[in-house]
Amino acid sequence: MTDYRKRILFDAETIARRVKELAGEIAAKHPEGDLVLIGILKGSFVFMADLVRALDSPCQIDFVRISSYKSATVSSGELEITMDISVPIGGKHVIVVDDIVDTGLTLSQYVKRLEKESPASVEIAALIDKTGRREQYVKLDYRGFSIEKGFVVGYGLDWDERFRYLPAVYALEDTE
Ligand code: 5GP
Repeated sequence: MTDYRKRILFDAETIARRVKELAGEIAAKHPEGDLVLIGILKGSFVFMADLVRALDSPCQIDFVRISSYKSATVSSGELEITMDISVPIGGKHVIVVDDIVDTGLTLSQYVKRLEKESPASVEIAALIDKTGRREQYVKLDYRGFSIEKGFVVGYGLDWDERFRYLPAVYALEDTE
């Protein structure tokens, strides 16, 4: 069986500091508040929980679950939503909260879908911008950290449903 070693990338204090800064950026851009934050499950759940508490202003929170897809499906413009939001977003300022942006395919498709509901605006907050394999441009309005490549776990991010509970973000390294 393949063995993996974890190398710490961002410790809990560094993440907490950065999440507070992101909340400050959001509050500065939206002094009127009244936001709808939509988290992409499952990976965003820890980031969302910390972000809304750092935001410290009234907002609505919902989650969406998007199933993994084959690239053939994406090129046809389809996205399979396995659990949709229930909060109405028409006329609202929406922030999509995601754990990590990789190819950008999921978010670019999902934002297009949200825009059909006529929100006042749609922005994106991602904890990690993984830049090296981007296929679709994604406008990241709030970016926690940037990495070029690698597979990361912890702080909500999993590998085969493991490691989500870890309070820090680690790079998984194959030791074989
Ligand atoms: P994209 O459509 O941008 O390629 O897919 C982004 C999704 O792929 C993320 O929300 C996450 O679920 C998954 N993903 C991409 N890179 C990583 C990574 O390094 N670690 C983990 N745990 N998930 C990743």
